[in-house]
Amino acid sequence: MSDKALAAQLKREVERRRTFGIISHPDAGKTTLTEKLLLFGGAIHMAGSIKAKKAARHATSDWMTIEKERGISVTSSVMKFEYDGYEVNLLDTPGHQDFSEDTYRVLTAVDSALMVIDSVKGVETQTKKLMDVCRMRDTPIMTFINKLDRDGRTPFELLDDIEQSLSIECAPMTWPIGMGKLFQGVFDLRNNLIRFFDAQGGKSTRPKEAVVVKGIDDPTLDEHLGAQAAAELRTEIELLEGAGYPFDEKRYLSGEQTPVFFGSAVNNFGVRELLEAFLRHAPAPMPRKAETREVSPLEEQFSGVVFKIQANMDPAHRDRIAFLRVCSGRFNRGMKARHQRTGKDMLLHNAIIFMAQDRAGVEEAWPGDIIGIPNHGALRIGDTLCGKEPLRFLGIPHFAPENFRRVVLKNPFKAKQLDKGLSQLTEEGAIQLFRPASGRDLVLGAVGVLQFDVIAARLAAEYDVDVLLEPMGIAAVRWIDSDDKDAFARLEREYASSMVTDADGHPAMTFASEWRLEKAVEDWPQVRFLTAREV
Ligand code: GDP
Repeated sequence: MSDKALAAQLKREVERRRTFGIISHPDAGKTTLTEKLLLFGGAIHMAGSIKAKKAARHATSDWMTIEKERGISVTSSVMKFEYDGYEVNLLDTPGHQDFSEDTYRVLTAVDSALMVIDSVKGVETQTKKLMDVCRMRDTPIMTFINKLDRDGRTPFELLDDIEQSLSIECAPMTWPIGMGKLFQGVFDLRNNLIRFFDAQGGKSTRPKEAVVVKGIDDPTLDEHLGAQAAAELRTEIELLEGAGYPFDEKRYLSGEQTPVFFGSAVNNFGVRELLEAFLRHAPAPMPRKAETREVSPLEEQFSGVVFKIQANMDPAHRDRIAFLRVCSGRFNRGMKARHQRTGKDMLLHNAIIFMAQDRAGVEEAWPGDIIGIPNHGALRIGDTLCGKEPLRFLGIPHFAPENFRRVVLKNPFKAKQLDKGLSQLTEEGAIQLFRPASGRDLVLGAVGVLQFDVIAARLAAEYDVDVLLEPMGIAAVRWIDSDDKDAFARLEREYASSMVTDADGHPAMTFASEWRLEKAVEDWPQVRFLTAREV
């Protein structure tokens, strides 16, 4: 292909790609929404297939399940589908027991996110945490308020909750007409259109098609909705005009504003509109910062960054799949790329691409796509693959764990195996190891507690080491850093028993409570207490 033809194709392929993740608290409706999106994209043909995977994931966390899960999560980590000429990559953000650092790190590989909020519960803890991660890169976020078929909070309360708890402006794109049993549908604020709700499988006699009205004052509104509901809607829209923010694409793209849609995922209501608005407004693959410069996806030189490592089903071979986000240029099967960390060339002949249900060999991939590269441990989280010009991409961090366990070795003669097992398994990035500056106890930290069961089971099965992982009195850990060497040394002296180093030797500090952490931040303004560390 000529350079010119390649440049033109690259531009076309980049423009039609959307790579995103869904952020939500468990049970808000992420799985249901994912399934509806995939059905629209024709990537799955039967409702229930994603649910079945989720059910398997929810089974008890014994060793067999963990093994099975690893297989399941490889195939459901990236769901690719096409819709209306767009190539969509939906990256899974594991959320229940499998909530882990991966969940956070996936968000560093997307260009935008969809946030699902349960209308009954409003903003919940996990949503807040995930939102904080999106903030690190000002990721644009669209919001879907779900379960309008249930009696939840009023739309005004919900918007207020999002604005207050997440510090983001809300721009309603639709407005619900009633809720719960009285839910009639939504008013499309930008197109003056009423979309009628029809519970799937219900015996609704309402017209299914949307009707266009001449604005909110159109007298036919009363005929469609009944006088009372029409009057209520008018009052609400009037209030909204005084208080709400109009949609502003620039503010959405800079992460300052979130467009909000109302609907019911399980009834497939409001999902298509959400998808279409998403494809139209969400960003195509964006430039990514490398150490030396910013890299545009339109550059012809291939580059990509590893954001996730998953050990494969076969522990005997210690093979792993590295998930690489293509950042620029075209990927071809069999191409050579430079592994930046080691300076060696890698032959990429057996990379795979993920489909909703399956995975297959990949012939070609473009910026925004995720490819899986099987390897035996050469690739690590944060690694860059590039062309002739050495590049090192930034922005794939480690996140401060939120749960901690002390490692107790049952057989003291196995210290060497333990060391080897821990260092190999922590490289996968789901769990972190901290060594105390004084004292002997090794500390494991994870974002989600299931990871402790996984690591104990894998240490036993793959390294023949039995450990007990005991709860301990640590509530938080922060990486510490300061330009003021004296202050830093004083801190280290005063809190010697709280000082630890991570697997790469970076200093960190543990805290017995959130309160102590807050106090330290207040008392030591010269020191930075970091929740994320660049890999
Ligand atoms: P996830 O944990 O966020 O993936 O949530 P799921 O998609 O599994 O949904 C959690 C529960 O909420 C399930 O029982 C769904 O059937 C239910 N659900 C999802 N969407 C809706 C909705 O629009 N209305 C109602 N009433 N229930 C819903």
